[in-house]
Amino acid sequence: MKRALLLILAVFVALVATRYLTPASSVRAATPVKGDPKMKWNGEKVVKSDDEWKKQLTPEQYKVCRKAGTERAFTGAYWDNHEKGTYYCAACGLPLFSSETKFDSGTGWPSFWAPIHAENVTNREDNSLWSRRTENVCSRCDSHLGHVFPDGPKPTGLRYCMNSAALTFEKE
Ligand code: FE
Repeated sequence: MKRALLLILAVFVALVATRYLTPASSVRAATPVKGDPKMKWNGEKVVKSDDEWKKQLTPEQYKVCRKAGTERAFTGAYWDNHEKGTYYCAACGLPLFSSETKFDSGTGWPSFWAPIHAENVTNREDNSLWSRRTENVCSRCDSHLGHVFPDGPKPTGLRYCMNSAALTFEKE
């Protein structure tokens, strides 16, 4: 009887501990969780160690997403993709771009004139390579996606120049 009570107490303490010791703002998902293709980022972060990212991602994805690398033009999976569907973050699965805003930029990288939601893609100043550019990262997991330039088509005039390796496409 005493043992059963102790066990119940232990389970209770463990439950309380996991509820309060895990920060609500940090989600540790083993694999990318793809939800609603129109999902707006809710402010939660996906935080993983460098080793965890290395294990989860392919070497090419890791280089682009976590080390801000750039794939060679015309080599990625999506620059010439004309299918209807949604482009998710390759690292965490947050929906980022829709085929509805994709256009042929001629650059050899998948290009869009707007993200699905402004909240889902974060802009960062990038002063590397002796130039001033605006880097784009996934708002949820901070993975590098590409850069945004002010020479895109209407209606926004923006060109989100993305790496295929930072995206996973799902057909509508
Ligand atoms: Fe992400």
